[in-house]
Amino acid sequence: MNLNTGHFRIDIVPETPDVPLAFAEFLPNSTPEQLAAEAHWLRPRYASADLAHGLLSFHSYLLRSPTQTVLIDTCMGNDKERGGHPMFHRLQTPWLSRLAALGVQPEDVDYVLCTHLHGDHVGWNTCLRDGQWVPTFPRARYVFSKVEYEDRRAAFEADPSAGFGVFADSILPVMRSGQALLVDSDFELGGLLRLESAAGHTPGNVIVHLDHSSAANISPVIFSGDVLHHPVQVKYPEWSSAFCEDPRASAYYRQAFVERYADSECWILPAHFPHPSAGQIIRAGGCLHWHAPSG
Ligand SMILES: [Zn+2]
Repeated sequence: MNLNTGHFRIDIVPETPDVPLAFAEFLPNSTPEQLAAEAHWLRPRYASADLAHGLLSFHSYLLRSPTQTVLIDTCMGNDKERGGHPMFHRLQTPWLSRLAALGVQPEDVDYVLCTHLHGDHVGWNTCLRDGQWVPTFPRARYVFSKVEYEDRRAAFEADPSAGFGVFADSILPVMRSGQALLVDSDFELGGLLRLESAAGHTPGNVIVHLDHSSAANISPVIFSGDVLHHPVQVKYPEWSSAFCEDPRASAYYRQAFVERYADSECWILPAHFPHPSAGQIIRAGGCLHWHAPSG
């Protein structure tokens, strides 16, 4: 995908596409009967043939204007020790090469925005060099929600092994290098990008708006992070994922989010929807649906 918004060109930097996760585990409130009723659009793009597994993508968004290069979320990263979990542990993916293929070297990145500090959104914040975790992007400022950072820091101080070491290997090196920017949830960057609190999935979870109030005929874009993990949640926003730290708050925010953008001109770019990832929310037959152009 690349979307030219007039100010920013947007590209996806994939890490691992089409990862199967059991619906019964990651959307525990879903039922086989409800999923079967959606089979006509879930298969094959969003679910396995037997509907037991949903397909998720792990990717970053790359935004480029004539003056700025911005990454939103940084996937899982290479070489990270994640307790042997096969989805995350000691990955070796060509994510950096894919970034380079788009014409971007690590030193070109000006800002890294992390929607929250789960391990699959901060992995490429750092890379292993001579046995040390160092910031991957040597010039970048890394934007973290202050609320989120303080929550993770408290958890780390209570138990340094909490969260599979994500804080130690992907957050602390950025703090120590002085590249972190701890911000409030209404932070704005350059007048075009602004954060909005979307607490629930995590305490400091945010979404990122790309607004074009000065540009005619260009639709707003929203990087919705983990407000939605899978397209079926547009129809069933009450289904929080097993990864949501406050499932009730997450569902409450998700329900308001899908209602707010239903039948709007906004493009929604979630962190885990399979290719082409970008889509819109439409209302039909009294329900909300995910609509993504094929391609
Ligand atoms: Zn995630």
